[in-house]
Amino acid sequence: MDIDAFRRQAHGMVDWMAEYLETVERYPVRAQVVPGEIAARLPTAPPAGPEPMERIFADFQADILPGITHWQHPSFFAFFPANASPPSVLAEMLTATLGANCMLWQTSPAGTELETRMMEWLGRMIGLPDGFYGVIQDTASSASLCALLTARERATGWRANEAGLGALGAEGVRLAAYVSEEAHSSIEKDAMIAGYGREGLRKIAAGDDFAMRVDALEQAVAADLAAGITPACVVATLGTTGVGGMDPLRPIAELCRRHGIFLHVDAAWAGSALILPEHRGMIDGVELADSFVFNPHKWLFTNFDCSAHFVRDPEALTRTLSVTPLYLQSRETGQVIDYRDWGVPLGRRFRALKLWFVIRAYGVEKLKTMIADHIAWAGELSEQIAAAPDFELMAPLSLGLVNFRYHPAGRDDESALDALNQRLLEQLNDSGRLYLTQNRVKGRYAIRFSIGQTATTRAHVQRAWGVIREAAAASG
Ligand code: PLP
Repeated sequence: MDIDAFRRQAHGMVDWMAEYLETVERYPVRAQVVPGEIAARLPTAPPAGPEPMERIFADFQADILPGITHWQHPSFFAFFPANASPPSVLAEMLTATLGANCMLWQTSPAGTELETRMMEWLGRMIGLPDGFYGVIQDTASSASLCALLTARERATGWRANEAGLGALGAEGVRLAAYVSEEAHSSIEKDAMIAGYGREGLRKIAAGDDFAMRVDALEQAVAADLAAGITPACVVATLGTTGVGGMDPLRPIAELCRRHGIFLHVDAAWAGSALILPEHRGMIDGVELADSFVFNPHKWLFTNFDCSAHFVRDPEALTRTLSVTPLYLQSRETGQVIDYRDWGVPLGRRFRALKLWFVIRAYGVEKLKTMIADHIAWAGELSEQIAAAPDFELMAPLSLGLVNFRYHPAGRDDESALDALNQRLLEQLNDSGRLYLTQNRVKGRYAIRFSIGQTATTRAHVQRAWGVIREAAAASG
């Protein structure tokens, strides 16, 4: 493609992008296709020669868009948000155009130095105490993997990377990691990858408040010590995926300090709410943590992917992950930050740019207002659900997350209620008018309503509540 054609096409596509964002509500929120439907529209063989961009773009609209679930739709209330925003999209266009790989300082000095500064900004914005150093990872899953790996190395005197876990000691070294039973599945996957094994991951009971029980954690650690197993890492979750439970950080951190256990904090979703000082109670004790992650790509208006990972001891992280062949050395090695040593992949996108655009284009005060609004609308919704005779809350409101179910008077059979709510959820999502996800709360099926999309307004939340009530009443 020559550069004049690129310019012409790019202008046209930007017009399309602006119109998409303006009119995204005309699409069904969740893609309304069946498995294989999109694949059937795609030729099985690649074209031998060039095709005009007009045709490719027309096919994008005709064949790809119907298979897109519109995460930027203001009635997207499923999972957690992956909220983009116009300034973030603009930065992503520049990032793609530069096509820079920010693996070493030398391969993009501005990439590295902007990343360091953005992580300092974010640390201040969320009220992290001094003494944390930040890196942008692709996802919270990756950040937690890095934490579990660092913990593994620390617990084995930095020997596991060298010798392999199985070669340490006569029967190998047995390590344990601890999470709440409400924690995200990424921790389990990370524990598998990092060599703890599923059997080495202790899922600690949560209390009625869905938070990790510190007495149960203490017992699990004691049992492991008695069995000759090394407690290596605790992952505390702030804002569990199902109901937004908050593990009590300070007592967990104090326990970790007493036993010399590495403490990682997974605040993937809830961390963005820390820009509001009134929500900082959840990080009381964070000064004792070794590692902390939250995702601006969830709830800070920054396109996926962008995960903010803070560590107390960058040396421990790089000692765990650094491998330096000659071709990755540069004149500046050792005097600058080479972020490739701070994570698993070598290649790194220029992610700091979109944070810079987002934070500057909105300003911190506006970002606070946007998140505070989401939380306030969730509060209003949760009060309405609590007051509605045929509905009930299944867990206390947590920030922008509400769990509820339809429970018509006199219909108390639990399995029937599970089936009724499952049908209701499917019917709502099939309507294309909104998108919600399911959950299981203390064994019972619940509908999970998560508020945090950039374009969502109070009216969208209220409309969704109306649609839910109507559909429930019609479901009989
Ligand atoms: N941790 C928590 C608490 C989450 O809710 C999620 C995803 O929703 C993750 C981790 C995984 O995030 P990512 O997709 O960035 O790996």
